[in-house]
Amino acid sequence: MVDYDNELGLATLACHAGRLRTAEMEQSEALFLSSSFCFESAAQAAARFAGTEEGNVYSRFTNPTVRIFEQRLAAMEGGERCVATASGMSAILSLSMAVLSAGDHVVVSRSVFGTTVNLFKNVLGRFGISTTFVDMTSAQAWRDAMQANTRMLFVETPSNPLTETADIAALAALARQQGALLAVDNCFCTPVLQRPLTLGADVVIHSATKYLDGQGRCLGGAVVGTEKLIQEKVFPFLRNAGPTMSPFNAWVFLKGLETLSIRMQRHSQSAAAVAAWLNAHAKVARVHYPGLTSHPQHELAKRQQQGFGGIVSFEVADRAAAWHIIDTLKYFSITANLGDAKSIVTHPATTTHGRVSQAERDEMGIREGLIRLSIGLEDAPDLIADLDQALASLP
Ligand SMILES: *Cc1c(COP(=O)(O)O)cnc(C)c1O
Repeated sequence: MVDYDNELGLATLACHAGRLRTAEMEQSEALFLSSSFCFESAAQAAARFAGTEEGNVYSRFTNPTVRIFEQRLAAMEGGERCVATASGMSAILSLSMAVLSAGDHVVVSRSVFGTTVNLFKNVLGRFGISTTFVDMTSAQAWRDAMQANTRMLFVETPSNPLTETADIAALAALARQQGALLAVDNCFCTPVLQRPLTLGADVVIHSATKYLDGQGRCLGGAVVGTEKLIQEKVFPFLRNAGPTMSPFNAWVFLKGLETLSIRMQRHSQSAAAVAAWLNAHAKVARVHYPGLTSHPQHELAKRQQQGFGGIVSFEVADRAAAWHIIDTLKYFSITANLGDAKSIVTHPATTTHGRVSQAERDEMGIREGLIRLSIGLEDAPDLIADLDQALASLP
């Protein structure tokens, strides 16, 4: 385990952890675009397959470029081991398949990513794994949901799109009492702004597709945890089932990690400026941003995060007003991604949460007038001017 308090800073780890330099002495990490690796002899092939000799075999389970990414992200999260996956969803699936069995129960925060809700309910549900969804901000709700067969607590904090925040240390204590695992989806904060493992979580999940890439290019994911959990449970699932990260994508994410620290600081600064400006606007009913003192979990976010991130949501009168603003913005792309250098605008009720029932949306607080912004790396005054012209043009 890398102790970055006493050793290297996060930005240094992001450039150097896991570095592998070949005999060619390249400065930028090599891209090993090879599906398989060769053996010196039949005996060596046998030893590699048996696991008695370390070394590359086949890129479904080991690839040098992917391994650099895994080691680098593990170091940044303060974890012992990481396994990279084809997407964020396959990271959640791989963890679940690795640690759960038919008859097990999971407690999941209600406001997780929409597809995560579907995965637990409609996919894992068919294989005898039951899920209770709870209000992530209520400690009582988490406690009440625990059952004798609860094996995992799963939380995404801050949440999408309302940036609600859950107390990771408190959930870790609850999970430990029960002998269950606490898994945290750290997609919104990245290790630059929040390190769940240091707060007591057992596993961190990533969608690398978002901020780790940072420029909207590749899909990928990761599971970070102890050597024991990854080696004995998650890695064998990946080897057998195959939702593996492509070495090309791993190479792109490595480049992304090098600039992650500076990008997250800039995303956070600009998002804070946009949130404060929206909060003072007459046509904006409500702003959701953990950095605002009006945010219900502002104190908690301040305590467990090193910054407030790049996602800001706000509410206008109704769907017509929200769609008008979305269609009138010039520098915010209408697209499903987030965490890109380019700013993004989304109408959650009809896109990311469109497959969730109206009743569930009401319960989650996702109203028709809600707009989610992923603040990019443009100049904040330009983004504010763009929002200003869109809000001014409301009929
Ligand atoms: C996008 C996202 C995912 C899923 O990741 P993919 O890479 O799209 O599969 C999971 N969790 C959160 C919080 C996300 O934003």
